[in-house]
Amino acid sequence: MLDISVVKTDSPKQIPGPDDPLTFGTIFTDHMFVMNYEEGKGWYDPRIVPYGPFSLEPSAMVFHYGQEMFEGLKAYKSDDGRTLLFRPDKNIWRANKTNRRICIPEIPDEDFLQAIQAIVKMDEAWIPHKPGTSLYIRPFIIATDPFLGVRPSDTYIFCIILSPVGAYYPEGLNPVKIWIEDEYVRAVRGGIGEAKTGGNYVASLRSQVKAHEEGYSQVLWLDGVERKYIEEVGAMNIFFKINGTVITPMLNGSILPGVTRDSVIQLCKDWGVPVEERRISIDEIFEAHKNGTLEEVFGTGTAAVISPVGQLRWEDHIMKVQDGGIGPYSQKFYDTITGIQLGRIADPHGWTVEVK
Ligand SMILES: *Cc1c(COP(=O)(O)O)cnc(C)c1O
Repeated sequence: MLDISVVKTDSPKQIPGPDDPLTFGTIFTDHMFVMNYEEGKGWYDPRIVPYGPFSLEPSAMVFHYGQEMFEGLKAYKSDDGRTLLFRPDKNIWRANKTNRRICIPEIPDEDFLQAIQAIVKMDEAWIPHKPGTSLYIRPFIIATDPFLGVRPSDTYIFCIILSPVGAYYPEGLNPVKIWIEDEYVRAVRGGIGEAKTGGNYVASLRSQVKAHEEGYSQVLWLDGVERKYIEEVGAMNIFFKINGTVITPMLNGSILPGVTRDSVIQLCKDWGVPVEERRISIDEIFEAHKNGTLEEVFGTGTAAVISPVGQLRWEDHIMKVQDGGIGPYSQKFYDTITGIQLGRIADPHGWTVEVK
């Protein structure tokens, strides 16, 4: 159990009203959770303090070699006024998996959950109520040793910030156009692709800019070795429905193990829909599109939950899916997962956790 101290802000901010626009990740709540680490001492001084800047040495290791991890999950307000988290145990498990990969000291699962619960409880009034809105929770850890040599840091800051976010697609589900990248790669097996760490994102920026310039909203990555097998989208895992079977790339070491991905796979099993986790090549997708069996394509991630893909571009080929619209499975996964998140429908696997 953490003994969390609390310093409340003496200048609370204006909480956005139901009609104020909420764009992703721009507004932050009044408080944040912070905890420090020092080699030999462990994690110490867990505290809730007013949201505000850190003071760090310019030589702090995170600025130079990127030793940092992050997570992303959401808190929702149910119709009966409860505050619900969605599968936080999965995020915490993944956070510590990332920590092990990049030599950051682990945080005991129960302390991590307690920290999330405490900060969400503190700023509970910031959770928006409108359909599709939620409170985005961003835990992260940064390396803070003032040192320019290369080694794991001996000191760290763990922080959790909160941001009220609007519906990802204000008019409901909206199909995206995706650029299949065949020039750059994001990750290779044995690298850090399966860790949630900033390095993977900086590796993706060049392609993202290129795709945006071409009118595509996201990039779909192929494997870093043969550039042949599908990996995932920028910040989403990817699913295909081909001839009645739901298929997603298997977790091979370079793909992020998404919580939403896992939830979709479980729902397929619950519903008796054939589902496969396996290698899937771009040629297979191209063939399926050509012979009319590529029924649906969608991305999965905490931010948008389900993103139907209306168009894929690979080299000079443009593949339209569902005529550029939303497929019935994409819609059903979206309705079911958001229904569970909001406590509106049965939660047979106990995915939601109430913040009390
Ligand atoms: C966070 C993330 C995802 C989605 O994971 P969820 O747990 O479903 O939000 C997918 N790919 C990458 C690269 C990510 O960072």
